[in-house]
Amino acid sequence: MDELTDEEETALIASLNRLHDDLKGMLADRSRGEVVDLDLPIGRLSRMDAMQQQAMAKAERELQKVRLMQVEAALERVDDDEYGWCCQCGEPVGVRRLTARPEVPFCVPCQEKAERGQR
Ligand SMILES: [Zn+2]
Repeated sequence: MDELTDEEETALIASLNRLHDDLKGMLADRSRGEVVDLDLPIGRLSRMDAMQQQAMAKAERELQKVRLMQVEAALERVDDDEYGWCCQCGEPVGVRRLTARPEVPFCVPCQEKAERGQR
């Protein structure tokens, strides 16, 4: 895997900042993922729907929170001049992977190793 060029790094940092603002905005918007009032007389089926939607919205919010933390950690690595290098093995993460997910901290082999370890 090659090191990032200056242009690639600049573009990735711009996407990180955009992602950061987007996630912050979504998480700050309290109308999203708001609790549905389950006592409303909306019938059994729509009640199930509402509960399911509520659970999905909550799960989505949790994912956004985790992602925001990863984005913030990535921006800290930018400050420390360590962005683009795997946090585990120190090898370049690779521009294609970072373009898809600019906040990822690990290269593919380390990510796979970590995921295997979790199981
Ligand atoms: Zn690695």
